[in-house]
This record gives sequence, structure tokens and C-alpha cells, in this order.
Amino acid sequence: MSVNCPMCNNVAMPAWKKIFMSPIGPVPCDSCDCDVRVTWTSYLLAISLGSVVFLLAYLQLNEGSLNQYLGYGLGFVLMLAGQVFFMPIYATEVPSKSDE
Ligand SMILES: [Zn+2]
Repeated sequence: MSVNCPMCNNVAMPAWKKIFMSPIGPVPCDSCDCDVRVTWTSYLLAISLGSVVFLLAYLQLNEGSLNQYLGYGLGFVLMLAGQVFFMPIYATEVPSKSDE
């Protein structure tokens, strides 16, 4: 499974690498000269479900209990899954040196 680049439609990166993507830094596409990035909106939406589960586990379950740790684990997994499966990516063209 891999992530396709919106610009060149070829493989931009393996899917697991999306876990390390953030709105702060774009990553170069593996196939072309563009950068792929995520927006704050898509990033926050992708991790929102996991964050809510995480927060509920913190607020609702007994502190230090096994269930609370399971809740944290579930929240974490949902955040990662959200990033890999539900986070749209965008491409920006990097101006090549010859254009300058
Ligand atoms: Zn590309």
C-alpha cells in the first residue's frame, strides 16, 4: 500500500510514512519534483477521532486501570489509522533551479 502523489499520480511514499507527516513540513515526492503536504484541517480531522477516544479514556476511566491503558492504546491506534487512511494530501510544485 502506498500514497499516490496528487501532482504526478505515481507513488509519492509508502503509506506508513504518512504517520510522520505534519502540516509543518512538506515531504518530497518519490516520483517527481513536487512536495507533498497535509493541511492543518485534514491533519486535525484525521486525528480527531483518536484524540477524542484518548481524552475520554483519560477523563472517564479509573486512573491507572488496565482499561485506561487500553483506552490510550486505542486512541493512539485510531490517530495513526486516521492519518494513514483518512488524511488527504496535497502537492506543491517546487520551482526548479533553471527557472530562477
Ligand atoms: Zn509527484
